[in-house]
Amino acid sequence: MINAIIALAIIAILLWIYWQKKPRNTLTSTGVPKDYLVGLNYLLNEEPDKALEVLIKTLQVDSDTIETYLALGHLFRRRGEVDRAIRIHQNLIARPSLSKNERIQALLALGQDYLRSGVYDRAERLFLEVIDSKLYLQESYTYLLDIYQQEKEWEKAIAVAEKLSALSPNHIGREVAHYYCELALETQRKSGYEMAFRYLKKAYQYDKYCVRASWLQGDWEKEAGNPKIALGYYREAVTEDPDFLPEILPAIVACYEHLQDEKALMNELKTLLMQYPRISLILTIVDQLQKTEGDSAAVDFLAQQLQQKPSIRGLNHFIHLQQGRSDLENRDLQLLKTLTESLLKDKPIYRCVQCGYASKILDWHCPSCKHWNSVKPIIGVEGE
Ligand SMILES: [Zn+2]
Repeated sequence: MINAIIALAIIAILLWIYWQKKPRNTLTSTGVPKDYLVGLNYLLNEEPDKALEVLIKTLQVDSDTIETYLALGHLFRRRGEVDRAIRIHQNLIARPSLSKNERIQALLALGQDYLRSGVYDRAERLFLEVIDSKLYLQESYTYLLDIYQQEKEWEKAIAVAEKLSALSPNHIGREVAHYYCELALETQRKSGYEMAFRYLKKAYQYDKYCVRASWLQGDWEKEAGNPKIALGYYREAVTEDPDFLPEILPAIVACYEHLQDEKALMNELKTLLMQYPRISLILTIVDQLQKTEGDSAAVDFLAQQLQQKPSIRGLNHFIHLQQGRSDLENRDLQLLKTLTESLLKDKPIYRCVQCGYASKILDWHCPSCKHWNSVKPIIGVEGE
């Protein structure tokens, strides 16, 4: 509503500018420009499109008015009325009276309109045209990068990211490392591991602590039947970013299962627990204890851990272990279990540390704020 009022206000400003300029050849016998009256009439009848059409046709676009038109286009785009924004910007570009800088501003704005409406090929062409002019380079490259990420054109994204990095000191190594990880995944699916590994090496060149690259190397070594080498990469990944330990843990367990070395697994899990007290890790140890030492050892360990690290998931598992072996009525335990399960049900597992976006899926590229590596398992009583 406020935006709608602002749009009408901007159109009113344009009408006022028109009144100030009063082109002589359009004056009526009363001294009032005819088009001004027509435009004002549309505005008062709340028909901003028609008022705007009159203005665009008759009010000369110059340094006094271009900013006002651009502000109006920006406002329409922000409101989601992209067609209106496109009409304004296309009309501006068609004006031969524009200076080079003004025309480029209009092209950049039109590119943003197409980007917003998902017409990426047109948006790309416009941003490339702006780049050719050597003006607004940082903005144009940033928008291009957005397009290439959405289109998953990783090689183009890498090229643009490098241009951006040359323009400003902002560190974009982590993003580029992710583009290389994406390329590695694509290549592995199409042509196998050898070339894909080369892309992972490139990822490390841009981010030497790239947790995703280490995790991928671990997965591929595990798939190739090299669990010992895989474990090395998984350990690296956990050191690089311990927040992902709960996700990497099942792969670590699978490697030890392949090696048939339960004792080494337990040692590794307990070493990890000293550094990273996470409920997934505690529950993995509980599972191993149950297999190797029985229910009592598992329950005792869990009870002791829950005192230090309260967790709904932990409590839920504790009740599960108690069922069938406790003096408590099974019915009461079932009631407690239903309660803990309902507390956990529909809760997000991951949250973006940049924007708070919550989800049940781990996404390397936050769908909301577009940051890379920012969606992580939730820590706390309801999460990890
Ligand atoms: Zn986010």
